[in-house]
Amino acid sequence: MLKMHNVSKAYITDSVKTQALQSFSLEVKAGDFIAVTGPSGSGKTTFLNISGLLEGFCEGQYLLDGQDVSKLNDKDRSRLRNEKIGFVFQSFNLIPELNLFDNVDVPLRYRGFNKAQRKQRIEEALNKVGLAGRMNHYPTQLSGGQQQRVAIARALAGSPAFLLADEPTGNLDSQMADGVMALLKEINASGTTIVMVTHDQEQALQASRIIHVRDGQVEEVIHEQKAIA
Ligand code: ADP
Ligand code: ADP
Repeated sequence: MLKMHNVSKAYITDSVKTQALQSFSLEVKAGDFIAVTGPSGSGKTTFLNISGLLEGFCEGQYLLDGQDVSKLNDKDRSRLRNEKIGFVFQSFNLIPELNLFDNVDVPLRYRGFNKAQRKQRIEEALNKVGLAGRMNHYPTQLSGGQQQRVAIARALAGSPAFLLADEPTGNLDSQMADGVMALLKEINASGTTIVMVTHDQEQALQASRIIHVRDGQVEEVIHEQKAIA
């Protein structure tokens, strides 16, 4: 479970203060598929990055699976992130010099797995996204949709409890986007909690809850039933 209570975050650049999150409160339960929507600059990415322990915050409380994040030191926080969180970004963020196998291996190297365990996890993850036959290919040899599938495999290979996705289909045409959405729904159905930032209303309606963010706050929470009606 992921629980934020009155979390605030401000950026200060050249003595100009930007309030990115303001008393942001949200509870994400195991098994949820949350879509985060809202205007550009409303704080969606900041929320996702704080959730994924990529960024800190100024005020408030954040519990990740019961652990009070602000009470952890850097090392424990990194360990918690590596164990619990998988990330998927709009721009895939694959390493062009590495083949698919080695790309998926990157986050596993931060974990305690031995070589055989890593190999098994990589093969399973690439199999899950339908790319097991292309392990020796390089990212540039793939379509955008396939590259995003590799990024999803990389995020899943460590069996994270949470998959955090920041506009995962933002760089894909609609057909590839549909494929990636179908894959994310499958992953959620098999037990991974997903939090996804999206601009696409139709995609958001496929989530179990929609969190609408405005001016760094949760403006509205729309539940599945209401969203479909
Ligand atoms: P969204 O993802 O909804 O577009 P962001 O979370 O990226 O919004 O940004 C929220 C606000 O914080 C915006 O006003 C943005 O300009 C500001 N912001 C985000 N990152 C930084 C940063 N590293 N330095 C300064 N301001 C930032
Ligand atoms: P950080 O310094 O934030 O831990 P790096 O800059 O080492 O991450 O990560 C480089 C890239 O490797 C990231 O952009 C991301 O795509 C990937 N990566 C790193 N850690 C993870 C992780 N735990 N899960 C998924 N991908 C990761």
